[in-house]
Amino acid sequence: MKLVTRSQLGWPASAAPAQATTKGVKVHYEGTAVSTKLLTDHAACIAEWKAIRASHLANKVESYSDVAYNFAACPHGYLLEGRGIGKRTGANGNQTLNRAHYAVLGLVGSSGLVTPTDAMLGAIRDGIDLLRKHGAGPEIRGHRDGYATTCPGASLYAWVQKGAPRPGTTTPPTEDDVTLTVAQAKQLAELHDVLVPYAGWQYRGKDETTDAYAYLRGTNASVKALTMQIAAQTAAISKLAQLVGSGVNTQQVVDAVEKAIAEAVVKVDVDVTGVQNQES
Ligand SMILES: [Zn+2]
Ligand SMILES: [Zn+2]
Repeated sequence: MKLVTRSQLGWPASAAPAQATTKGVKVHYEGTAVSTKLLTDHAACIAEWKAIRASHLANKVESYSDVAYNFAACPHGYLLEGRGIGKRTGANGNQTLNRAHYAVLGLVGSSGLVTPTDAMLGAIRDGIDLLRKHGAGPEIRGHRDGYATTCPGASLYAWVQKGAPRPGTTTPPTEDDVTLTVAQAKQLAELHDVLVPYAGWQYRGKDETTDAYAYLRGTNASVKALTMQIAAQTAAISKLAQLVGSGVNTQQVVDAVEKAIAEAVVKVDVDVTGVQNQES
């Protein structure tokens, strides 16, 4: 990640209100003409970003405390800090929308420079991933989702609708892409039934007994990734199970899942300091 910080931009700490968590991130564009000079002159990118902040600070109607976006991304793949992490955006249209999602701006517009470079898409993705590490939920949306605007423009919006994949990687599948046979859906329903009891693991820590699941999620990056993956799978399976009703027995699937969970437990044991016992 090529991050340009506020201090590198010569900006003071952001005075924007705090916002520790959101449902996700919304992607924006400038909505005006953007010079194609940005493609060949990174200094012009920095100047553009500074001009956006200056225009926001001068906006008497909105009375912004800072540039409205959490981050911006330039054609050269730099992630430019705006309000940064842990701050409510002012870019999504109203207070409710601003509380719901952080905001990342791609430095493209409605004419001139309209098509984001792969490097820019990578930098927007860097911004999304960074915000996710600091309280953003999984949603990736365009400004136009839930608000009357053309933002973030056709090109960025098409990318957002694909799940904002990092260029050069495969597109993450969306719910709509998943098609299952009835037999597969029934297997998933069983998988769900097997996984559910593990969501309530208790563990005995040094001084207390607490929900292992909650404990693990806040502890260790690799465990956090693992448990989030399990949570995501459980949620997906739960949803599918609701659709197909109770499943038939497919012992093979159950065995495979139990084996996978056993391996996950071993990994958890190794990774987490202080876990002395796990009871199912
Ligand atoms: Zn916008
Ligand atoms: Zn640049």
